[in-house]
Amino acid sequence: MNPFAYHRADSARAAVDLAAQAATARFLGGGTNLVDLMRETIERPDTLVDVSGLSKSIEAREDGSVLIGAAASNSAVAAHPAIRQRFPVLARAILAGASGQIRNMATVGGNLLQRTRCAYFYDQASRCNKREPGTGCDAREGFNRIHAILGASASCVATHPSDMCVALAALGATVHVQGPAGARTVALVDLHRLPGDAPQVEHQLAPGELIVAVELPALSFGACSTYRKVRDRSSYAFALVSVAAALDLEGDAVREVRIAIGGVAAKPWRAFRAEEALRGGPATEAAFQAAAQAELAEAAGLRDNTFKIELARRTIVAVLGQLKGEAA
Ligand SMILES: Cc1cc2nc3c(=O)[nH]c(=O)nc-3n(C[C@H](O)[C@H](O)[C@H](O)COP(=O)(O)OP(=O)(O)OC[C@H]3O[C@@H](n4cnc5c(N)ncnc54)[C@H](O)[C@@H]3O)c2cc1C
Ligand code: SF4
Repeated sequence: MNPFAYHRADSARAAVDLAAQAATARFLGGGTNLVDLMRETIERPDTLVDVSGLSKSIEAREDGSVLIGAAASNSAVAAHPAIRQRFPVLARAILAGASGQIRNMATVGGNLLQRTRCAYFYDQASRCNKREPGTGCDAREGFNRIHAILGASASCVATHPSDMCVALAALGATVHVQGPAGARTVALVDLHRLPGDAPQVEHQLAPGELIVAVELPALSFGACSTYRKVRDRSSYAFALVSVAAALDLEGDAVREVRIAIGGVAAKPWRAFRAEEALRGGPATEAAFQAAAQAELAEAAGLRDNTFKIELARRTIVAVLGQLKGEAA
């Protein structure tokens, strides 16, 4: 590990100011990803600004929305009564990730900005455009079982590993950010970038911008939502494919629907095409199949992960079928 300075911020403003004074600062949430990367010298910040003591509040508002402080632990969010009642998809997504101990440490802000689990990214002996731009990508011809089937590029085929973000994408969450240039909001679905020819740029936050909160807008049918994660082991494994969905039925027709897919792209993949195909139509298995097909029409597999296209299709159909049963 390289030497670094450590500061504990007592306000968002102080955190932003402290980061602005350093050449290469990183915000420290629970450290469950960043410290690993520092140990491997993949991340080499000269300064850590500890933001784990900032707002952990989870404010359940009367209008049905919820505002979550970025330092809230993953465990606290999953256990909160308002989340469990209004947005079970989010509680289930969080509980499908990592372990109890890690969820106790991991913060909401850190979960959003955790790095890919591509093994070549963590291996300094491998070529990786995300770690060292312009060096190549050993995953393309290597072992690429967990890699992307949507939105990938010749430069990078990594996936975003977060379960929480998949649920947040489906729920239309907004990320509140504070930085040297002031405060702003970013839609969660726009926060993470597809790799293009610059996979090292993973999100659209400017240097020194701090995530201060995540807002879940009221969703009248949020209670009819769920998360299904398909993985190689039943616990302690990242998703091969996951699906977060919420369904609102009017009789046998789909009034409204939200779907996001995880484990398939460099960002949590909001399935806008599938939603559009379903809205206003019949809630039948044939319609679920057609919607999943529409979403995955441009999916492309690599040597080891082509199975994920069929897996994603089946998981979308299964989750919608489950929600239809619950809504009936
Ligand atoms: C063994 C293991 C298994 C795991 N399994 C899963 C899993 O199945 N599913 C899953 O989703 N995750 C899994 N994780 C990942 C885990 O969820 C993340 O490590 C965790 O959410 C990161 O949160 P953190 O607060 O510890 O972030 P940190 O490690 O502190 O930070 C991560 C990144 O976020 C930045 N950051 C932190 N807070 C902020 C902020 N407020 N504003 C701006 N930037 C910030 C940091 O600078 C750093 O770049 C696993 C991790 C481990 C170690
Ligand atoms: S897939 Fe992306 S993260 Fe993995 S080796 Fe290639 S460039 Fe690096």
